[in-house]
Amino acid sequence: MKYMAEKCALCKENIGTTFLEKLEGTLVRVGEGENSRKFYVCSGCQKEHKENLKEKISKL
Ligand SMILES: [Zn+2]
Repeated sequence: MKYMAEKCALCKENIGTTFLEKLEGTLVRVGEGENSRKFYVCSGCQKEHKENLKEKISKL
């Protein structure tokens, strides 16, 4: 399976992967059920925003 680069929803940088092809960041889900959207966030932005991350992304 080929890995597709994901961009950070906040800083728009490509999110790198570890040698096991795990994203160096996190996946944030906003909303419920069919209306939910997924956003990738790099580890840098994850650290910067921490508990405000979801709130920050929901305002994008
Ligand atoms: Zn970022």
